[in-house]
Amino acid sequence: MTLCSFCNKKAVITRKYEGISLCKNHFLYSVEKKLRKTIRQNQLIKRDDCISIAISGGKDSTLLLWFLASIQKKYKIKIFAISIDEGIKNYRKNTLKYAKQFCKKYNIKHYLFSFKKEIGMNLDKIMKTKYTKNQNIAACSVCAVIRRYILNKKARELGANKLAVGHNLDDESQSIFINYIRGDVKRGMRLGPISPNQNNVNFVPRIKPLINIPEKEIALFCVLKNFEFSLNDECPYARTSFRWKIRDIILDLEQNSPGTRFSIIKNFEKTRKILELKNSKKEKINFCKICGEASGKEYCKFCLIKKTLAMAKVKLIC
Ligand SMILES: [Zn+2]
Ligand SMILES: [Zn+2]
Repeated sequence: MTLCSFCNKKAVITRKYEGISLCKNHFLYSVEKKLRKTIRQNQLIKRDDCISIAISGGKDSTLLLWFLASIQKKYKIKIFAISIDEGIKNYRKNTLKYAKQFCKKYNIKHYLFSFKKEIGMNLDKIMKTKYTKNQNIAACSVCAVIRRYILNKKARELGANKLAVGHNLDDESQSIFINYIRGDVKRGMRLGPISPNQNNVNFVPRIKPLINIPEKEIALFCVLKNFEFSLNDECPYARTSFRWKIRDIILDLEQNSPGTRFSIIKNFEKTRKILELKNSKKEKINFCKICGEASGKEYCKFCLIKKTLAMAKVKLIC
């Protein structure tokens, strides 16, 4: 039996990357301590913030919601939750049930928005149109654009000045790795625990309090706390994504040299800070000619997808 490195009780986890084992209490305490440290060191939360929390009912967002609710009084912040129903059969409806229940239990206001209502089509249907089929567009890339757009817009309209997302250590190290491979420096600058101030009134800064917690530890935390969350929180489209391949590579590296995920993040943060200083000139912001949201080009990606889908509907080429 492995014992806790601090109190000799039965260990529930061995952290190879730190060379320690932890009992239930020391593990729960350690995760909460890491969350507080991430928030403090990166100044993710300030007094009087109004934070919109993106929740799915899976483990990451459940922990995020619980934690922000638990520090609500101390920081004097307001919180509410937003969920997005992408319209993925046999998946989202189930996870959203947990999201709804959790918010009810903790008395947190919960808003639900759908792809169907916001862009006129659910994701399953989008993936059957010629738009995605002919151009071989991956579900995750089109979904990410639409979801990010809705979350940002709704968070702002509902009065939030921050948007908290449940990205964990694994997610973030994958994003950094993917970005490195694609060589998109500008996009890479938007990663990290808090999105940089883009001097843009339409943009709600995104914060990632779970960025230093491995995915498996989040699951263990939720189980030990007896949270009710969806165990099936893996999107059926996930395995078709490039991210999935990167996920395997990073997990393999982590297995052989524990701490890889942390060093990917640490190295990236160092580079990002240097680039930020070099790039401190404010970028010119354009606004989409259709919806008025911030956009790199004349029309934002959301509106372009919406337009294409509307045309697909009219021509009945679905
Ligand atoms: Zn202990
Ligand atoms: Zn637009």
